[in-house]
Amino acid sequence: PTSLLWFRRDLRLGDHPALLAALDDAGPGGDVLPVFVLDPRLWRPAGGPRRQFLRDCLADLQQSLGGALVLRSGEPATVLPALVREVGATSVHVSADTGPYGRRRDAAVEAALGDVPLLRTGSPYAVTPGRVTKGDGTPFKVFSPFARAWRAHGWRAPAPRPETVRWLRDVASEDLPPAQDLGATRLPAAGESAALAAWDRFREELLPGYPDTRDRPATDGTSRLSAYLKYGCVHPRTLLAALPDDDRTAEAVRRFADELAWREFYADVLWHRPESAREPLDARAGAIEYDSGPGTEELWTAWAQGRTGYPIVDAGMRQLLGEAWVHNRVRMIVASFLVKDLHQDWRRGARHFLQHLVDGDLASNNHGWQWVAGTGTDASPYYRVFNPTRQGKQFDPDGEYVRRWVPELRDVPARFVHEPWLAPGGPPPGYPEPVVDHAAEQQVALARYEQVRSGG
Ligand code: FAD
Repeated sequence: PTSLLWFRRDLRLGDHPALLAALDDAGPGGDVLPVFVLDPRLWRPAGGPRRQFLRDCLADLQQSLGGALVLRSGEPATVLPALVREVGATSVHVSADTGPYGRRRDAAVEAALGDVPLLRTGSPYAVTPGRVTKGDGTPFKVFSPFARAWRAHGWRAPAPRPETVRWLRDVASEDLPPAQDLGATRLPAAGESAALAAWDRFREELLPGYPDTRDRPATDGTSRLSAYLKYGCVHPRTLLAALPDDDRTAEAVRRFADELAWREFYADVLWHRPESAREPLDARAGAIEYDSGPGTEELWTAWAQGRTGYPIVDAGMRQLLGEAWVHNRVRMIVASFLVKDLHQDWRRGARHFLQHLVDGDLASNNHGWQWVAGTGTDASPYYRVFNPTRQGKQFDPDGEYVRRWVPELRDVPARFVHEPWLAPGGPPPGYPEPVVDHAAEQQVALARYEQVRSGG
């Protein structure tokens, strides 16, 4: 028999339980047909960097499969039943997708397959979203107790990489989608071996220092695994199982596993409340009024292009355009600036991020935005407004990060680099004065918050 393995966010061969299930199903004399469906509903809104990264991951997978990967584009509920008939497959295997679109799509595929089963084994998470609940069966709404229960629940050991697979060959495939024109944006190498190499380097060289360096945007102190995790070039279980177990790294290991737990928490929230990707989880804070009048577009453009006059905000937005990735600390700062200094709707910021980030992920991104906007579960309280100057001084004390991304500031002395408007003669040529006054806009944000809080 032939079983079909439909790759989605699991573009690897190691630690892949659905692959093992497909092999098992095919039996000793059977074949596995590896397929990827290019779904226009996911491809179109992804933005150039993610399309290119996905394309490169597919090229890498194609190579690992010795050319057996079959690419087809179209609606999965049409493409897959046709392919199943074409090769006479008796089952279709996947890693579960727990996002709102993926769930709807998979239900439609399942219905269209009729008697041929769609079998889900594993998911892109160490613990499949929905599994960890409070004692009374209701979902967690706050991170820390979720993380405790998630650790207590535990996860399986990594699945072994199969030694031999009989891939079904000579099934017609489309070509890889065309390369994207990314201008000057540079992306990391894609695919499973690049992910494992990045992981090995992080674990051996950077992990011990992670508690100290993870909040320093000028330092290469984090794993940069987010895009690989997004596309499943590596499974988080593989990472968790390979974390060292010694006193020297205990704190670093705890911090790193906590970050993976945030990823799992946000996926869990999205599983229980699929509308949370678009709707504020906290309805009261969600009622805050955002600006839309004259001047809004100019301010939006200043933010998106990295020309607000606040160095750390501008450096972050230019890093987004330059690398399709932004340091976590700076994601919080730029998001807070859009929502609380420019009073713009977090959903527009979230959409912009999803288009430009190579790791753009609905659960982590949109809930990250809700956290900053004060509308999410576990939200940073609305009245906590990031002060871009103070954040800059604290986390980029020498201005190394802002100088890297904002060349206009290269010659500004360190003491003015986060507030160049105070330098003698004002900001350097070509660099703007602040587009708004942070202290004044903070008061506006707080007043709007008071208004919805008091129901006024
Ligand atoms: P590391 O510090 O090495 O962390 C390891 C892994 O843990 C990351 O790869 C990621 O998978 C996970 N992780 C770390 N921090 C978080 C977090 N706060 N929330 C969820 N998962 C986390 N992450 C995305 O993967 N995709 C997004 O689209 C995304 N959008 C964000 C938007 C905003 C406004 C904010 C504040 C955060 C967002 N994050 C997003 C979370 C975080 O910024 C990135 O995961 C992190 O910067 C990736 O870099 P890294 O792999 O070097 O992280």
